[in-house]
Amino acid sequence: MFFEALLLATGNRGKYEEFRAILPRSFVGRLLFAPEVGGLAVEETGDSYAVNAVLKARAWAEASGLPSLADDSGLEVAALGGLPGVRSARIVEGTDEDRNRWLLSQMEGQGDRRARFVAALALSVPERWTLVCEGECRGRIAEHPSGGGGFGYDPLFWPDGFDGSFADIPPETKNAVSHRAAALRSLLQVLDVEGR
Ligand code: IMP
Repeated sequence: MFFEALLLATGNRGKYEEFRAILPRSFVGRLLFAPEVGGLAVEETGDSYAVNAVLKARAWAEASGLPSLADDSGLEVAALGGLPGVRSARIVEGTDEDRNRWLLSQMEGQGDRRARFVAALALSVPERWTLVCEGECRGRIAEHPSGGGGFGYDPLFWPDGFDGSFADIPPETKNAVSHRAAALRSLLQVLDVEGR
């Protein structure tokens, strides 16, 4: 299976760059960034990553007529009962830095710092089918932000087996172990894509 052009249904440039790096060339010719194709606001009304990813992929596929890929992802912190979870992008109004400050304030005095990133990835072919797969990356929440790369909660998330945050390690290392990479591996396996 090969897509000459695939629309990535996100307004998040960080996610776009990650997908551009991890999608095999044997699977996608050109990856289109949604804001450069058109304007479409999709309400994320589902209470799971999978439902929200499907809502976004289907809406963009129908509106554009192009096969569309959407991800819905979030950070789940054990000591916070899985928060911020599906509300990771909007748990606090403001910037990524505001949300990182919120997370650190919630973690004050917490001994258990285990967390995981989860991603659901939905691929929708207009008027044909939609497929959704999930992936995770386990780690822990640091005491302080570190690193200059990445986006979102990256400066506070130390993936298991690494001595630094997602924002400290090179992008290609993050892209090998991330929740999005794990979800993509499942998707490519289900689709039986060669050269994955
Ligand atoms: P979504 O756009 O609704 O999927 O929101 C996902 C939110 O989860 C993002 O805005 C980030 O705050 C967070 N998130 C998801 N994946 C990552 C990641 O790889 N690094 C840092 N934060 C992430």
